[in-house]
Amino acid sequence: MNKSSKKTPQNNKKIEFVRGQTLEEEMRTEGETTEEAETTVEDTGAIQRWHYYALGGGPDEEDQPEHIDKEEESYFRMDEPTGQENERHVELCTISPRGHLIPREIWKTLHTDYFAPLTKWGKGIMGKTNRVYPHPNQWTFENTPGRKPIDQIGVNEIYRALTATKRTAPNCMQNWEKRLGPGIPWRAIAENVTKGLGTNRDTSSWFKNILHRALYLKGKGGQKAACSACYQENEDWIHLWRCPIWARHWEIIIEDINKMLPPIQGTERVKVGPDFIYLGIIDEDTTPHVLPSSLALLHAIIWKYIIMELYKVSQNEYYKVSANEAFRKALRRYTTRIRANLRKAQKARARSIHQEYDHNNDLINKKLQPVAHIDDECEEIEWHPVVHRWLALAGAEEHDTITPTFTPEW
Ligand SMILES: [Zn+2]
Repeated sequence: MNKSSKKTPQNNKKIEFVRGQTLEEEMRTEGETTEEAETTVEDTGAIQRWHYYALGGGPDEEDQPEHIDKEEESYFRMDEPTGQENERHVELCTISPRGHLIPREIWKTLHTDYFAPLTKWGKGIMGKTNRVYPHPNQWTFENTPGRKPIDQIGVNEIYRALTATKRTAPNCMQNWEKRLGPGIPWRAIAENVTKGLGTNRDTSSWFKNILHRALYLKGKGGQKAACSACYQENEDWIHLWRCPIWARHWEIIIEDINKMLPPIQGTERVKVGPDFIYLGIIDEDTTPHVLPSSLALLHAIIWKYIIMELYKVSQNEYYKVSANEAFRKALRRYTTRIRANLRKAQKARARSIHQEYDHNNDLINKKLQPVAHIDDECEEIEWHPVVHRWLALAGAEEHDTITPTFTPEW
């Protein structure tokens, strides 16, 4: 590109600068200038355009050095057209110590090719728009209330962003109670997470995405967006638990769990509904309880695999979610986790023999019921008949009548 062939209307104009305000002077006058700017917006009733620009090197200035000292840039305020095509009167500005532009009542005319747009940072300038990063209108911190532009973020927002993951979440608790009603057994839910059979790897996905409601749902908050699993209804919390893609499988799990937990006064413990599907709550109509820790782990692991499917479809719109796969993988992972307790018990028993003390599996068996039981000799793990069927379905274990390669559509 040959720059000399371009017309250079500003070259013959000498640009003069005067001293800007000192920081102290500027802070004294800042209140006034702010008010002035705000009045302008009210008067015109329109979105105020920012009329400040930097002097650019013409339409192609890519070959300019990467780092430009802001002090050495020339800034101006755009004023009336001159009558010549694409030419404007401009008022030169100085840049204050705090990055504010101050018009100096020195007037020039300039071709609009040499107007380089500026990006504001707060009330000052950040630099030429094509060079600034991060752009304040495009970036903000996660978890800041109201998604404030980054240049308006203060200590308060940064604190909230940093502590978002550590807060015990009163917001999510309130939100769930608003939807499911009061009386959610939070303590029992928390105990299943912290003292249950699962590891962080098993439960954190459900914990963050469902319990803390961090799952990204396209149709949340009044927006309209079809569910990425069934394409039939709006993708939000009202829909997710009853989305037909997953619901069929949840119903089978619920039926199975009702076979494992003895009914109370003839009433089944688990009902199909958001209380159970989201939070694992049972006996919801009388005194709400949570699943025993053994089954709470299954509940969390199922969510982990559902969330993984939802994530895959969010990354690739052509991906077809497979509920069958998600539930199969969940059952396989779950039974593997439960089985790991047998090895742990065997080690504990070996240690007890070595150190000559009595060993029993009461503690672990209490946690495992009603899903499984480990005999005191630690020879094998006995599964509840329902779980025995899950094992076969998941292809996780040899079975007399069903081979592990069996892939059921269930
Ligand atoms: Zn759906």
